[in-house]
This record gives sequence, C-alpha cells and structure tokens, in this order.
Amino acid sequence: MRCMRCGSQNVSIQVVNEVDLKNAHNGCFWWLCIGWWWIPVKWLCLTIPALLAKIFIPHKQRAVNKTRRKAVCQDCGHVWNI
Ligand SMILES: [Zn+2]
Repeated sequence: MRCMRCGSQNVSIQVVNEVDLKNAHNGCFWWLCIGWWWIPVKWLCLTIPALLAKIFIPHKQRAVNKTRRKAVCQDCGHVWNI
C-alpha cells in the first residue's frame, strides 16, 4: 500500500464503523411530492383510530452499519477509502 499523495509506504489501515440513521418511513422527497396532499386524502378515507395511531406511534429509525476500511498515511496524514 502506497500513499497516493506523498508516495510513502508508511501507511496503516483502519477499520472505520460508520452509522447512518435512516428513516424507515418516508423521506423528505416523499413529503414534498405526495405527503402534503396524500395525508388530507387519507384523513378523509381512514378512520380516526388510524390517524391517532399515526400521531402517537413514533417513526421508526433503523441503524445502517457500514464498515469501511480506510488507509491512513503516517507521513502526510492523507486518508482515503480502500
Ligand atoms: Zn502520504
């Protein structure tokens, strides 16, 4: 393994664990395009218990674990993904 910036062989490899929180529910784009009119339509169609459930049940989030290996140059500090 050789550093791309300075050409040094003194490079260590680290395993980096990154956690992204993603909404398991609808995203922002969905709300912009559909949510603002779909929700009132839903109100007309669905019963009040369903509406209350939607309010009181929090949106679930799921954690997405990504394991990334990164190389760190010990000479110049350059970090890059492998
Ligand atoms: Zn370097």
